[in-house]
Amino acid sequence: MVVEDEEAIRALLRYALTQAGFETVMMETAELGLSAIRHKLPDVLLLDVMLPGMSGIHMAQQLRREPRTKNIPILMVTACADESDRIRGLDLGADDYITKPFSPNELIARIRAVLRRRAPHQAGDMIEVAGVCLDPVSHTVRCHGTLVELGLTEFDLLQFFLTHPDRAYTRDQLLNALRGDHRFLENRTVDVYIRRLRAGLGTTGDTLIETVRGVGYKLNTPSP
Ligand code: CA
Repeated sequence: MVVEDEEAIRALLRYALTQAGFETVMMETAELGLSAIRHKLPDVLLLDVMLPGMSGIHMAQQLRREPRTKNIPILMVTACADESDRIRGLDLGADDYITKPFSPNELIARIRAVLRRRAPHQAGDMIEVAGVCLDPVSHTVRCHGTLVELGLTEFDLLQFFLTHPDRAYTRDQLLNALRGDHRFLENRTVDVYIRRLRAGLGTTGDTLIETVRGVGYKLNTPSP
């Protein structure tokens, strides 16, 4: 589903998405989008930030609040490159964002990346990065074949990193990602869990999970 008020951009998106094999539903406003989602959940939502009436940010908030819609992958489309907008979008649970103007190819690549990241989590498939293999079904982690003992929080943290690689997250964002099961965690305890996670993964942990100065942490996928 695409929620976009500008007709020219809708036309461009419809063409690009159809060419890439996606079935598209185009909506002009957040209100129309929400009403359509009540009938049918989209596989992925491409959401413009600046809309007449309800904003894209507000729409994303509404979707994240409801159990039925909270897991819809959301890619925010923003007209300004302002960093705070990006962070805000991610805080709300947007899976990614793209800044206008964007090339259709880049957009398609981003959508596929969002779907890939979401899919293993939802499908219960194994996720493997740099020799670290996480099995969400048996709740086990292996590092280069060796079973790794991790606490529940470290496991969830690792699962989040593996499904959201190559992007720095603040401690607050990491806490938000773990929210629900770990609502009593405090900002500073993130460092403790990161330390335990790295220790559990041994030397791999140090290169895999990077400290990003002034921001927080990110998981690095090895360059091919
Ligand atoms: Ca707009």
